[in-house]
Parts: sequence; structure tokens; C-alpha cells
Amino acid sequence: MKAVRIEKPGDIGLVEIEKPKISHPREVLIKVVCGSICGSDIGIYKGTNSVATYPIIIGHEFGGVIEEVGSEAGPLKAGDLVAVDPVRSCGHCYACLHGRQNVCSSVKCVGVHMPGGFSEYVVVPAERANKVDPARISPELICLIEPYSIGVQVNSRGRVAKGDRVLVMGCGPAGLCIIQDAKARGAVIIASDIIDARLEVAKKMGASATVNVQKRDIREAVAEFTGGEGMPVVVDAACTVESFPLALDLACPAGRAVIMGLGAPMSQVAAVAVTKKELDVIGSRLNNYRFAEVIDGMERGIYNPELLRSHTFPLSDAVKAVNLVLNHPEEVRKVVLNF
Ligand code: MN
Ligand code: ZN
Repeated sequence: MKAVRIEKPGDIGLVEIEKPKISHPREVLIKVVCGSICGSDIGIYKGTNSVATYPIIIGHEFGGVIEEVGSEAGPLKAGDLVAVDPVRSCGHCYACLHGRQNVCSSVKCVGVHMPGGFSEYVVVPAERANKVDPARISPELICLIEPYSIGVQVNSRGRVAKGDRVLVMGCGPAGLCIIQDAKARGAVIIASDIIDARLEVAKKMGASATVNVQKRDIREAVAEFTGGEGMPVVVDAACTVESFPLALDLACPAGRAVIMGLGAPMSQVAAVAVTKKELDVIGSRLNNYRFAEVIDGMERGIYNPELLRSHTFPLSDAVKAVNLVLNHPEEVRKVVLNF
């Protein structure tokens, strides 16, 4: 079967590998239907993802049709359409025992630390295969359930609730999912980016105001939006060295800043930036069993995955698709691979 493998930074190809087999009674074999390319896949390709291991079959946003089930795979059966949660955890460390398995001390993400979903077949634990009704969610969009799970995780971590004013810095796919979920929670959102086309989509996803930070000072815009007070919630979905301290700066006293970047380069943050305003600086990583919530939201139409998708390629053009995201990030939202 075919799979998309990154051998080392800068070296990607479609390779022929052996079809996986079920080796545990609680596993299922899935024929993959679709996958979508993430900024973190591009980070693995470029060598800037500080948590990746090589060589790696990439892909953590994917789903498909169950072909075979293990003897203890629960209610799932062959023919079921499922979206796969890529998080794997140990179940017995401090984080796992405290309901935070997405930051398990030995957490693994499919497609980052172990073979991913950009391959014709995958074997996954049944508990990570989330059933989707193909009559209510288009099978070719089920790979986008994972990006929305990131948005739900971020807003849950940031305790985003009805009436909250939220600044989302960065309107790439993650930012857009955060915006749409924050809107569904009843928040009022201001979105920033450096690309006008992205800000247009942010508006369609629910942002009330947008700021192109290359044309307008973000501090000034936030002051105007909040009557000088600052933002109760700031989400740093721009994930640059500068955006982390800026997020703390833009938060109001007693506010929350949700940080989701995975970069290792150092930012400069003064202790007083946190203490003076008694900020909650909150990390958000992967998702903590959010798939059911996302699937429910998609089925009810509160998320719009069709707008999140900008391009579709067949699996045979996966390398071309990855290079499109690498070289023209301003032109793409989610690139979906059709298997
Ligand atoms: Mn992703
Ligand atoms: Zn654990």
C-alpha cells in the first residue's frame, strides 16, 4: 500500500509499504478515505517541529471506513465511517490520572511519533475511532474533525464562555477553528493576521472585527475594541517568538492567555508581565477526547468544514499538496487528500 513518508527534514515521498494488521483484540483496521495537511506536518518536513521523530509516515488528521475489527473492539463494525483521534496515552501517569491524557508524560501523536494516517490503511485502537454518520457529515471532510478538536481544546482550556471578548492572533486553520468554536460558545471575537484573505474567512467564521497587523497597530485596535481595558482572553495561534509576549501584553488584568505554539526558540517574557495583571497563562496541546463534541457540532451545523477546506488533491499528488502548503501558505486553508 502507499503512504506518505518523511525520511528526514526536506525529504518526502510516496512510498510502498506493507499493509498493517490488527495485533490486539481492541484494534480496528481502517481503509483511509481522507486526510488533511497541518502546519505541524510542514514543521516535520522543514525540521522545525521540536517534538517529531524520523523517519515518519505523516498524517494526524484523517478518517476512513472500518475494514476489520478485533474481537474486543466494542460496538464498531466493518463498514462504519470513523474519524481517528491521533492522541495515544499511557493511562497511569499523573496527567492521565487527572483527566489530562493529551499531555500524558509519554504522550504520542499518530503521524508525529508513530506511523500516521497518510497511508491507505491504518490500524488504530477502537477507542480512538469515532463513528460519524455519513448522511450528516460528508465522508471527504471527516479529516477536518481533528483540527476542530484543537479549537475546542483551546477554548476549553481558555474557559471561553458566553459574552467573553476573545482575541485570536493568527487566522490559519487552527485560528479559524478556534474562532468558529468561540463564536458557538457565544464569545465576541477579534481576529488578527497579516493576510487580508484570511481575515475575510475569519469574519465568515464568526469574528466581529479583524486587524491586519501589518497595516494597523494591534495594541491600538485592542484598546479601541475594549475601551482601553485589554482582552479578557487572548489566544496565540500565530505561534511566533514575538506573538507569545505580545499575547501577554494584550491581555487585560485577570485575563487568560492560551499558548499553543510548539516551537523551541526562546521568547522574552518578563515576570512582571504575568504577575502585574495576575494572568492565567495556559498551554493547550492536541485534544483531550474532544471528537464526540466536534462530531456533534458538525452534525448540528455549528461548524463549517466546507469553508475550512480550500484545496483537494488525490493521495498520488500528496507531495505536490505538501509543497503547496509549504510554499504558498497564504493561499491555503486546509488541503484535503482524497484517498
Ligand atoms: Mn493538525
Ligand atoms: Zn500517561
